[in-house]
Amino acid sequence: MNSPNNSIVIVGAGLAGLFTAIKLAPLNVVIVASKKLGSGTSSQWAQAGIAAAMGKSDSISSHLKDTIDVGGGIVDKKIAELVVTNGPNRVNDLIALGVPFDKDTNNELILRKEAAHQHNRIVSVRGDMTGKKIMETLTQIVKKSDHIQIIEGYNATELHQIDGKIEGISIQKDNKVELINSNCVVLATGGIGQLYKITTNSKEALGDGVGMAARAGAVLSDMEFVQFHPTAFDIGIDPAPLATEALRGEGALIVNSKDERFIYNSHKDGELAPRDIVSRSIFQEQQNGQKVFLDCRGDLGERMINDFPTVYQLCRNSGINPSEDKIPISPAAHYHMGGILTDEDGKTNIRGLYACGENSCSGVHGANRLASNSLLEAIVFGDIISKNIKENINKSMSNREIRITLAKSKSLSQLKLQELRSIMTEFVGVERDQEGLEKAYSIVKDMHSEYTLDGFINNSLITSLLIIQSALKREEHRGSHYRKDFPKLNQKLNSRSFITYNDLEL
Ligand SMILES: Cc1cc2nc3c(=O)[nH]c(=O)nc-3n(C[C@H](O)[C@H](O)[C@H](O)COP(=O)(O)OP(=O)(O)OC[C@H]3O[C@@H](n4cnc5c(N)ncnc54)[C@H](O)[C@@H]3O)c2cc1C
Repeated sequence: MNSPNNSIVIVGAGLAGLFTAIKLAPLNVVIVASKKLGSGTSSQWAQAGIAAAMGKSDSISSHLKDTIDVGGGIVDKKIAELVVTNGPNRVNDLIALGVPFDKDTNNELILRKEAAHQHNRIVSVRGDMTGKKIMETLTQIVKKSDHIQIIEGYNATELHQIDGKIEGISIQKDNKVELINSNCVVLATGGIGQLYKITTNSKEALGDGVGMAARAGAVLSDMEFVQFHPTAFDIGIDPAPLATEALRGEGALIVNSKDERFIYNSHKDGELAPRDIVSRSIFQEQQNGQKVFLDCRGDLGERMINDFPTVYQLCRNSGINPSEDKIPISPAAHYHMGGILTDEDGKTNIRGLYACGENSCSGVHGANRLASNSLLEAIVFGDIISKNIKENINKSMSNREIRITLAKSKSLSQLKLQELRSIMTEFVGVERDQEGLEKAYSIVKDMHSEYTLDGFINNSLITSLLIIQSALKREEHRGSHYRKDFPKLNQKLNSRSFITYNDLEL
């Protein structure tokens, strides 16, 4: 590989990583990605689209209100305003880059509606192919961009600092560890879904970036808030394919084995109730021994061929004919509201370290994310971070070489990973309580000790511990975080949570 030293390093090649890299032109950028460009991201699977107040009857204040309303009382209003205000311009950037968002015969963007949005404001591509088309477009641009070097198949494992300032990052392929000297690193490693048994997230979503940042001294925020999507396909495929929320908007029902619509027992809006309520309701039905299904039979099932081609194809590949068969579903770990604490410039508390996309926690989502606000956050902060880096680049680059022995990371064996995923699902999932969380903490801490005693790094175990510890501390039900032993909202806990690696007392 060409020497990547003294470039800006972006870890991760999802929407957050690629958009930031493109925006950083003409500065030299290195993208490190654990998989080949165009694969291994959640971004490519995003179905519904991007939320932005672009409609004539819509407004920034309405989008802001919806974002705050679902966030469980702890959304950072200043950040939320920043994100929704920049939304329309960033969507226009994607259009200028060539993303073929759906338009009507008057060449106006088609704006769709999703749960908890007061207005039609979701831009999408062919109904449910948004992520795929965005990523195809950006991947082509990145491949042709002279200012971007791509290092594929490497995992970033450890951040290095001198005097509290980023000086480099270790990357590893199999057993080979290499060092990239850089004063500026943007972490864009995505979510944590693969820490759970059933998830919609890509295999790479192991929370590596969060654990790595924590070990370097970054502050993490809102780690306890994990959003479970209620309607993932429960057909033994990992990751579990997603049946987009828009299907319920179009009339799909949620039923049990006896064809009963049980969600109404939990919420007056039935299938269109907030995600966490639908997920918990399905989880409880499963605990009572029932199987749960998405029922699109009849007209909707037939319309899926054109209106929801991705989901339709997934059904057919799994031997399901949606106009005749019910689709088996389950809640699945889908989105992490928590992550590396960032400010209005996308900066962390470590000099030279930025975070963007799902591994960051800017505060826009609070305790629950408004549908289609995550792709939005990724592009808004990708732009903000690139501007901030450009303004500060000459001040920050110092060319100091670090001389250290590089530690090795060791991935969890399949057996250990499955054990971790089972523990997180059973004790740190849709419903939690003190006893289960303490049990989970003790088991995962032992797993972590095995690694450190052998001198290895494992970032995903650190991330798991940070989630468990944060869930233990929040003794209430707020947004996506539900404590069986504290099932009510506690107004005294009406603020974001913060945690560091040192709080784990390992
Ligand atoms: C099925 C599905 C549907 C969704 N639909 C929507 C939607 O319609 N609208 C919406 O707003 N949001 C949606 N979301 C959420 C949204 O897609 C994600 O939050 C967003 O794409 C995250 O982008 P990202 O760039 O942060 O991470 P990703 O796109 O997940 O990219 C992460 C990158 O980091 C790399 N990586 C990870 N660890 C390392 C490491 N240690 N070293 C090197 N590289 C590493 C990965 O290989 C990958 O390249 C959906 C999510 C899923 C899973």
